[in-house]
Order: sequence, then structure tokens, then C-alpha cells
Amino acid sequence: MFNTIKSARAALRNQEISAMELTRQSLDQINQWEPHINAFNEVLPDTALTAAGEQDELIIANKAGPLSGLPISIKDVICTTEGHTTASSKILANFTSPYDATVVSRLKKAGAIIIGKANCDEFAMGGSNEYSSFGPVSNPWQIDKVSGGSSGGSIASVASGEVLGSLGTDTGGSIRLPASFCGVVGLKPTYGRVSRFGAIAYASSFDQIGPIGHTVADTAAIFTVIAGPDSNDATSAPNRVADYASHLGRDIKGLTIGIPGEYFDTAIQPEVAAAIKAALAELKKLGAKTVDISLPLTWAAIPAYYILVKAEASSNLARYDGLRYGQLDLSAEELIARYIEARGRYFGPEVIRSLLMGTYTLSAGYFDAWYKQAAKVRVKIRREFAAAFTQVDLIAGPVSAETAFAKGAKKDDPLAMYLADLLTVPASVAGLPAISVPAGFSQDHLPIGLQLIAPPFQEELLFQTAHAYEQSQTWWQEIPSLPSS
Ligand code: GLN
Repeated sequence: MFNTIKSARAALRNQEISAMELTRQSLDQINQWEPHINAFNEVLPDTALTAAGEQDELIIANKAGPLSGLPISIKDVICTTEGHTTASSKILANFTSPYDATVVSRLKKAGAIIIGKANCDEFAMGGSNEYSSFGPVSNPWQIDKVSGGSSGGSIASVASGEVLGSLGTDTGGSIRLPASFCGVVGLKPTYGRVSRFGAIAYASSFDQIGPIGHTVADTAAIFTVIAGPDSNDATSAPNRVADYASHLGRDIKGLTIGIPGEYFDTAIQPEVAAAIKAALAELKKLGAKTVDISLPLTWAAIPAYYILVKAEASSNLARYDGLRYGQLDLSAEELIARYIEARGRYFGPEVIRSLLMGTYTLSAGYFDAWYKQAAKVRVKIRREFAAAFTQVDLIAGPVSAETAFAKGAKKDDPLAMYLADLLTVPASVAGLPAISVPAGFSQDHLPIGLQLIAPPFQEELLFQTAHAYEQSQTWWQEIPSLPSS
């Protein structure tokens, strides 16, 4: 079984394996792993095998696309015409999208095989993937631990080798946190870098779709296909898309990397701090210069973020009224009563919490005190990063202060769950690109992720640095083994 896009692509091109065989292998892995990890809301064997047959013909005719024949999973908040698109919510359980998201059409055009819809927290709200109405996703390294969220299914499907790559979304850490917990590479692109046309919105001024892979090169290969402007998304940026692959082999001599003291200041697990410090020492050995910096507003990112995203969510989710998007079983006859019944019965606890918080902070008497203040803090955090980037090329630190926690540990404690995003949310508030790359294991063999943050639209710097680090290590070669029972 191949676990990288790079190796599978070479084998396909040399016709050592067909897209059909590769897709069958992926379906086979899914059959074996799913009872343990629950990474998929829906698997799409029929359409995947048909697409694989078409790709085989193109490969033989020498017309293969950059991702021809490669099985990829798609987070279930991203619309596909195949199967359902549910956002892991009961309110969308019967919804089928009439169109593909732009990222999905780009993947298909590049030849990728859409193998299924990946589990996630309901409407991407959560940090552990325990707020999914399809059940939690388990961490492939230890199934009693969470995968992390909200893109837990996307991440776990890559970590377990069910697929070769995936798309997730990251609003405040939903790609980076699970990537760090499960030992894969995940990128949150710059705000505006990737089209969100066809992505179900959580918080529109934060949401980004991003690629997930076993290696930095694989992640860059998917990103190259999905990045760039889209006339269907007015928030997609016109900025030039770099040739990411060409940055992978470059050394990092002379790069200056800032290390914010605040990222090590919290209740960080000593093993996590030690692994990240070792990774930073390795970056130095590879020729980068590290300098201590300070980002004093780090603590303010969580309160500002949660006020802003919940406000946006309460507005974005107003459209789920039980009348549109799939048939629901409702008994109320009157319009308002139907709204109340649909939203009360079919939304889960974190979504309801979000709607209450968001409606509160946007309401007339409280808007100035909460929403407006949070928006001001956001500007200050953005400026703080911008000032730091006048002195350093990149910022580095842990993705999370801890390794994957036990299922159930934070589920009923929303504040503890929110605090799990402490180190991912600052880059989100500032709209910056950030990557999580595996940086070793804890003593009980749970993965630890290194986070690199770059100035806007400089994803190539992230790939270059993460790749140089990754290639100096062996973490990426390790894969979890299938649990015995
Ligand atoms: N846990 C964070 C939240 O619930 C991040 C979620 C995300 O990035 N989609 O907002």
C-alpha cells in the first residue's frame, strides 16, 4: 500500500498499478479502519470506481492530470454532487448538493478520485470531532483518544492510510489541530487564497479550505491544484499562485524564524515543549536563524475569536430553517413553529451554543461591548503579527500545548474545548497562512505538531521550511497499525 501521493503517482505513471487497483486498495483500507476510527460519513465506492476507470484511460493515453487516480477524501462541509453533504448535522442529513464546490471541481479536473465524505464536527464547530451527529472520530494512533477537530475525519483518513490526501477547513485551527494530534501535514492557507464557493460557511471572515497529506510535498501537490482566484467567490484573492513544488528542495539558510515566548508560556506539556524545541534546534542546524520574539496579545485571540466566529455563525446558520436543504420530519404546521421545531430538534449542542452566543453579542444593547471590541482586538492582533514580520520571515511554535486528549475529557466543558485552540487561533484572527508538520512523538507515542506561520500569501515559505525540516527527520515514515479488535 502506498502512503504518499508521490510514490503512488510514480507507480501509476509507470503503470505498475492502475487507478482502479489503487482505488480498491483505498476502499479496502477504509473497510478495515472504519470500525475503529469512523472517519467517514459516507463512502462512495461506485462513483469512485467509475472515475478511476476514466482516469486509467487517460493515464494510458498519456493525458494524466497532476492528481490522476489518487483517492482523496473531502470534509463533509464541502459540496460534492456525489453522495450527501451534511456538515455532520442532522439538519442537513438528507441534503444532496446540486453542484460541486470549486475545490472539488478542481480536484476532479486534476484527476483525483473522490472516495467519500469525511466526518467532522457539526458545521465545523469544535476541536475534537466529538460534536458530530455521526459520532466521534478516533485517533488512529490510539483509538481511545480524539482525532482533534473539526476536520477529524479528513485527518484520520490520511493518518490511517485510507486515502492519500484530503481537504479540510480551518476557521480557528480545524486542520492544524487534528493534523498535530494525528501526525500528518495540514495547511491553513491565507484568508482568500482558496475559493470557498460550495463550502458550507461557519464564520465567513475566517473560513479557509486547506490540503492535508502525509508529507509536505503531498500537501503542496493538492494545494497547487486548489489555490487561486475564482470568479464564483468574491472573497478569493487575485494574488499570484507560486510554483509550490519548486520551493520544496530549497534550503532554509539565512531565513529568520521568530519564536514567540508566549507560545511556550502556557500550561504546555513538557514533552511537547521539548519536541518543539528540538525541532527549532534542527531548523537552526539546517541554516535558519532563530530569534526570540514576543506576541503579547496571544492571550486575547481566543476571546476575540469566539465572539467574532459565533456572531458570524449565528447569521450564516439562519438559513437552516427546516424548509430548505433536505426533507425533515416535522410535526409543526405553523411557519414559526416549524422553524423552532427544526432548529431545536436537528441542531446539536455546540451549534445551539454558538447561535445563542452569536445572537447575544450582535444584539442591539451588547454589540458595542462585545462584537465591536472583539473586532478592534482583531485589528491589534493583525498589527502585532505585521510588526513581527518586519523582523522575521516566519514564526514557529507548537500547534497545541498538548497531545491528543482522551475522548470525553472536554466534551462537556466548552471553555476547555475552546482553549484547545489557544495556539492556532492567533494566525486565524490575523488571516495568516500556517502549517502543522509532524515533529515527533510523546512517550506514549502520540504525535506532536510543529506550527509555522508566514506573512500573507507566502505559503511557499511554509512548504520550503516544513519540507526541509521533514526531510531531516523520519516521522513521516511512521504509520499507525490497525488495532487488533
Ligand atoms: N474549534 C474552533 C471552533 O470551534 C475551530 C473550528 C474550525 O477551525 N473550524 O471555532
